[in-house]
Amino acid sequence: MSMSTSITRSTCPYCGVGCGVLIESQGQQITGVRGDPDHPANFGKLCTKGTTLHLTAAPEIARQTRLLQPMQRLARGAAPTPVGWDAALDLAAERFARTITEHGPDAVGFYISGQLLTEDYYVFNKLAKGLIGTNNVDTNSRLCMSSAVAGYKLTLGADAPPACYDDVNHADCLFIVGSNAAFAHPVLFRRIEEAKKNHPGMRVIVADPRRTDTADLADLYLPLQPGSDVMLFHGLLHIMLWEGWVDPAYIAAHTTGFDALRALVRECTPEHVAQVCGLNKEDLFTAAKWFATSPATLSLYCQGLNQSSSGTAKNATLINLHLATGQIGKPGAGPFSLTGQPNAMGGREVGGLANLLSAHRDLANPEHRAEVAALWGVPDVPSKPGKTAVEMFQAAADGEIKALWIACTNPAQSMPDQATVRQALKRAEFVVVQEAYATATTCDWADLLLPATTWGEKEGTVTNSERRISRVRAAVPAPGEARHDWRIAVDFAQRLEATLGANGVGAIGVRPEFRTTTPEATKNLERNSALTPMAEQPEKTLFPYQTPEQIWLEHRESTRGRDLDITGLSYEKLENEGPQQWPLREGEATGQTRLYENGHFPTPDGKARFAALPWQPLAEPRESRYPFSLTTGRLRDQWHGMTRTGTLGRLFGHVPEPVVQLHPQDIQRRGLKDGDLVHVTSKRGSILVPLQASSDIGLSQAFIAMHWGPEYLSGRSGAGEPLAGVNALTTSAYCPTSKQPELKHAAVKILKA
Ligand code: SF4
Repeated sequence: MSMSTSITRSTCPYCGVGCGVLIESQGQQITGVRGDPDHPANFGKLCTKGTTLHLTAAPEIARQTRLLQPMQRLARGAAPTPVGWDAALDLAAERFARTITEHGPDAVGFYISGQLLTEDYYVFNKLAKGLIGTNNVDTNSRLCMSSAVAGYKLTLGADAPPACYDDVNHADCLFIVGSNAAFAHPVLFRRIEEAKKNHPGMRVIVADPRRTDTADLADLYLPLQPGSDVMLFHGLLHIMLWEGWVDPAYIAAHTTGFDALRALVRECTPEHVAQVCGLNKEDLFTAAKWFATSPATLSLYCQGLNQSSSGTAKNATLINLHLATGQIGKPGAGPFSLTGQPNAMGGREVGGLANLLSAHRDLANPEHRAEVAALWGVPDVPSKPGKTAVEMFQAAADGEIKALWIACTNPAQSMPDQATVRQALKRAEFVVVQEAYATATTCDWADLLLPATTWGEKEGTVTNSERRISRVRAAVPAPGEARHDWRIAVDFAQRLEATLGANGVGAIGVRPEFRTTTPEATKNLERNSALTPMAEQPEKTLFPYQTPEQIWLEHRESTRGRDLDITGLSYEKLENEGPQQWPLREGEATGQTRLYENGHFPTPDGKARFAALPWQPLAEPRESRYPFSLTTGRLRDQWHGMTRTGTLGRLFGHVPEPVVQLHPQDIQRRGLKDGDLVHVTSKRGSILVPLQASSDIGLSQAFIAMHWGPEYLSGRSGAGEPLAGVNALTTSAYCPTSKQPELKHAAVKILKA
């Protein structure tokens, strides 16, 4: 008798488009996946990654790739051996407590992930900031969206993307910059292609150093030099001012700071900008005209702007153009950052970064710290900013951070400057890796491996690029002994709470007299009906959660009165009415489709702020010894470090192996030929890779896809360590405001092997 098929509604775990999926399962096995026709992000469509999700969950693949029980490594380099959950968590609590007792709370760090669910993220953030008393909690979203966050806050006053996917259907001009949406956000790109077909008058401008598949759709392609984006945006504004294409009424009514910006861009003449950006003046003029004079212009942008030592300036100066022309707050118009990861947005919402607090509150603001402390029932959250991703691994390499907890991310492959990351993982006294896949490179460095559930097995919520919250649901039970990420964090936190309390350590959340004793904190927590009132709890804890919904309800309460207020939302509403956009306040029936339609911004005076930020050159410009600009980017069918997509042969059909692409003229000039094995070398490391001619690349530029890890590339990092993939080459130089590293550019030399 054949087993009946169950259908579970959930969300794709890959990119920030956040497509809805229907998971088919039989018994304990996922057997199929389809696009959810009712999900407003994709209306049933999926890309190649989404349609093959069920294959990555096949038992034969799971047996080879999944971490299925806790493992302890008794000595570095030794094979890990199984250990029970209680012993593993006791050990973790004891080692973290000892480090905190001996060296203080800032001697530990948590490096988490934009692929965690909002509920997972919330617990880790509270654990670090509320219990331990350190802001050393950062995430791989620092490598992804932190420049977009900083750009929005600097200009519009809040980290809130104002547009939505439907704006693609209302736009008359699309300005796609620093984004290969065709590969990175394929289902959204299909929507763009359809919109252009239905609206032949729509003009598409694509600015990117590489002629990507996205650029093939462009009516105007701007092959700008790497790192010259700010100069391009200033140059476009210069032309708009000269031609009278700005909107003085909008500028006067809704913005401040335009005079300083106007003075700054005066020098950015078309001649100068054309020379710095490597573009021609006519194209600059056309781009400025289309952007400013189209009835509605929508900008779509991604890592080309974010992963930069000028990331904040790139984001903010693009937003300048929208404010100067009034191209914001109306259908089809506005700046729209495309989030790389599935839940980079949710992580930001709970404040899961070293410089943020819950519900878009700022660590630097004493009132915000007091509000979060009251919510959590602790006397304070520490004011000292935590270490951001690059700083955290540097601090571990320097011996300052002694215990690291890494969850759902693979820094031993994905962080820039792998020589330093390897040094950090080696020097740290205790490394916990909480992970679904035993094949993640970082597992090799763990003292303790904790098996986590993954897509198809876990419950919670995620937020996509357009502020839309969707449910993630389990179709099958956890395999082996794997536990949910939030559960692992709670189990550890409760043990740490007890251990630190018993040690009498002054970590801020653990002293009994500080446990949810403020009236406001108690009231806030009790407002969540699904939570047991604190007074009735047999044993008080900061982590009283039994379900992800209980965590989410506490998060919901933290958003009350904030720009992302979701007090009108519930798991039940998501169940009955499907995914919803924020804000969705108590008493409101639906969320807000687009923001700032009334011209009012979440700044002290209600006005948006122009950012008069000058163009800065690349952190590591080309020079005679390193004459090529290396840029990295996504392939269509692979995801991140390939722990999941790399298990399927069919996803190698599009690009079967790593290559470095160079312009044919560069290949000829250097006496090389297509297919040669070459050493690609930066100041930090070297890799060996076949050469591929491509006229999509500009002269003196090179491209390697970001996904290839040590199993696909051979070479060395600067410290002589085994290779870590393409990030052996990249630089950890970062934007001074967002602290996002410049993964998009490194100077390299390329020599025949
Ligand atoms: Fe998944 Fe993104 Fe593809 Fe949608 S576009 S199916 S979210 S990878």
